[in-house]
Amino acid sequence: MLAAGVLGTLELLFHCRDVAKTLPAISSELGKKVRTNSEAIVGVLNDDPDLDLTHGTAISSHFYPDEHTHITQNRFPNGYNFMKFFTGPLVDHPTPAIRSLKTLWAIFAHPSQLFGNWAARNWNRRVTVLTVMQHLDNQISFKYGRKASFLFRRGIKSAAVKGKSAPTFLPVANRAARALAEVSGGRPLNILTESIGNTATTAHILGGCAMGASAQTGVINTRHELFGYSEIYITDGAAVSANIGANPSLTITALAERAMSLIPGKNENNFFK
Ligand SMILES: Cc1cc2nc3c(=O)[nH]c(=O)nc-3n(C[C@H](O)[C@H](O)[C@H](O)COP(=O)(O)OP(=O)(O)OC[C@H]3O[C@@H](n4cnc5c(N)ncnc54)[C@H](O)[C@@H]3O)c2cc1C
Repeated sequence: MLAAGVLGTLELLFHCRDVAKTLPAISSELGKKVRTNSEAIVGVLNDDPDLDLTHGTAISSHFYPDEHTHITQNRFPNGYNFMKFFTGPLVDHPTPAIRSLKTLWAIFAHPSQLFGNWAARNWNRRVTVLTVMQHLDNQISFKYGRKASFLFRRGIKSAAVKGKSAPTFLPVANRAARALAEVSGGRPLNILTESIGNTATTAHILGGCAMGASAQTGVINTRHELFGYSEIYITDGAAVSANIGANPSLTITALAERAMSLIPGKNENNFFK
């Protein structure tokens, strides 16, 4: 039973297929069709330094601003203070290079926007993060190999799939952050890796072991059995074969429970057949 999370499961399977060669028949579809929730992450830092928003469940409200988009509000515990260094001014532009320049200009023209945010006392207590998810399709392809940034050790490498890139700018996300900042009294924030780096951010990586009718179209079958090795089951986010456009834990759990329910019990005669 493999459930090491998308990155963990893919790394184990790539290693077994391509390096150790203990599972050489794993489908060539492995690592293809990895998806995010087509999301953007934005936030609002409240102006009141003594405000404490951390009490309550992590996500207690959500809404759908349009038919494709689902927005949840998130609280951050103490351990998440470091996230402030990933955030900066909220800037709009559909062209990545122009948005990047506009963001750099916003930082240069108003350095207090960035450094005031980074220096903010009790940042995690005052921040509301909006996870803005869409169920529109996107695709990333994962490979396994050596890379300079891994100091030439082997690891998972990601590549955008032409025409299917995960978004780095969702206008609706920026609109929602601005609206929340206006009504709650705070400054709206973008994630700098998206706004300057044009790199999609996700907390919801899914897929890589897509279900298919055969090894030509998928990595596992609808019973979660690995093609070529039916005694191995993939039961984590790697088995989610579409962008569900929502926080995925319950879907992953439901799929895993269904997969387990298809395995006959010990007292049944056909156990392991
Ligand atoms: C910051 C953040 C917030 C999130 N908030 C939400 C939310 O509010 N709601 C929601 O639905 N989803 C949320 N998610 C997404 C959700 O957590 C994941 O989609 C989900 O946990 C993935 O489940 P999984 O079983 O695929 O992998 P995981 O939950 O990551 O489990 C994989 C496990 O395998 C272990 N492992 C990895 N490699 C190995 C190995 N080689 N040997 C042994 N063990 C190994 C890992 O340590 C880990 O315990 C959030 C994610 C993040 C990062």
